[in-house]
Amino acid sequence: MLPQPVMQKAQEELLDWNGQGVSVMEISHRSKEFIALTEQAEADIRDLMNIPSNYHVLFMHGGGRGQFAAVVNNLLGEQGKALYLVDGSWSSAAVEEAKKLAGDAQIDTLNIVEKTNGISRIVVPDLNEIKQDYRYLHYCPNETVDGIEIFEEINSPWPIVADMSSNIMSREIDVSRYGLIYAGAQKNIGPSGLSIVIVRDDLLAYPQLTQASIMDYRLAVKHDSMFNTPPTFAWYLAAEVFKWLKAQGGVAEVAKVNDRKAETLYAYIDSGDFYENRVAVANRSKMNVTFYLKDESLNEPFLAEAKAAGLVALKGHRSVGGMRASLYNAMPLVGVEALVSFMKAFAEKHVA
Ligand SMILES: *Cc1c(COP(=O)(O)O)cnc(C)c1O
Repeated sequence: MLPQPVMQKAQEELLDWNGQGVSVMEISHRSKEFIALTEQAEADIRDLMNIPSNYHVLFMHGGGRGQFAAVVNNLLGEQGKALYLVDGSWSSAAVEEAKKLAGDAQIDTLNIVEKTNGISRIVVPDLNEIKQDYRYLHYCPNETVDGIEIFEEINSPWPIVADMSSNIMSREIDVSRYGLIYAGAQKNIGPSGLSIVIVRDDLLAYPQLTQASIMDYRLAVKHDSMFNTPPTFAWYLAAEVFKWLKAQGGVAEVAKVNDRKAETLYAYIDSGDFYENRVAVANRSKMNVTFYLKDESLNEPFLAEAKAAGLVALKGHRSVGGMRASLYNAMPLVGVEALVSFMKAFAEKHVA
């Protein structure tokens, strides 16, 4: 979801942006008006996330997966090794890409999900016990598909690289604990295709593995994320989402709403036997609530009736089945309440 006021504003100014008489899509990315937009966007994200001045903020192409490659390309260096924590589908996909680029021997992995009686929980061992010289530690604090979130701060002797595609700006974090944060824009920021990279300056010291220019953080820094034509419309919408977030009172305020949304839905799921969630309470995602109908033969009717009630995008990822309700920043509490009412009515109707 994107915030409705943002989309309404985009609609109103689609043909005439900022008094230019043309769409924001039609002006040069090098015009002073567009550059003012990008400067405001950067100032706003810095403000929203309290990003220290020794970090660069980059607006890049290629979404989350683009960064699976770019991180390796820019941070691993020749012969470097990295450790990847695995807690679900997206961290596994990041490992696959890293191995493809760097070779299996350069990428170590550590599974941090323990499953007991069908319930998944995160268990991070003491990383300081691992006597290895890794260039970075990669992890995914919110596994979008699996509905697992890591709320604890990871203690790592190596710079931490975090894939925050699905929980960036959903709650306050201390950016200075990270070496690099990246996020595909389409979950909490704006349209797909754009990705945000927040990288500490000293990590840009290694030579790139390949010479692919649009994957090069240092070129992006040097050219203010405009080495080539950036995804301008996505950037514009992201800038509007940042303004909207600030108008909501910033990340701390949005986080309170996110807490209430997640609590409301999990409390209802836990209140009876008709639905179940299979993640330990401490690791239940506040952005992606996965749940199963105990009677899986009711999955299709559930989805069909939900759709008829105006509730869409509830089908779980094909790799895990069941249901998933994504509660990104733009989802209002009333949206969650509508879902809960529907789930109640559905359960009452179908209970044996
Ligand atoms: C969606 C997602 C991605 C992939 O994003 P794309 O833009 O489709 O490449 C990567 N990581 C996480 C955690 C995601 O949720």
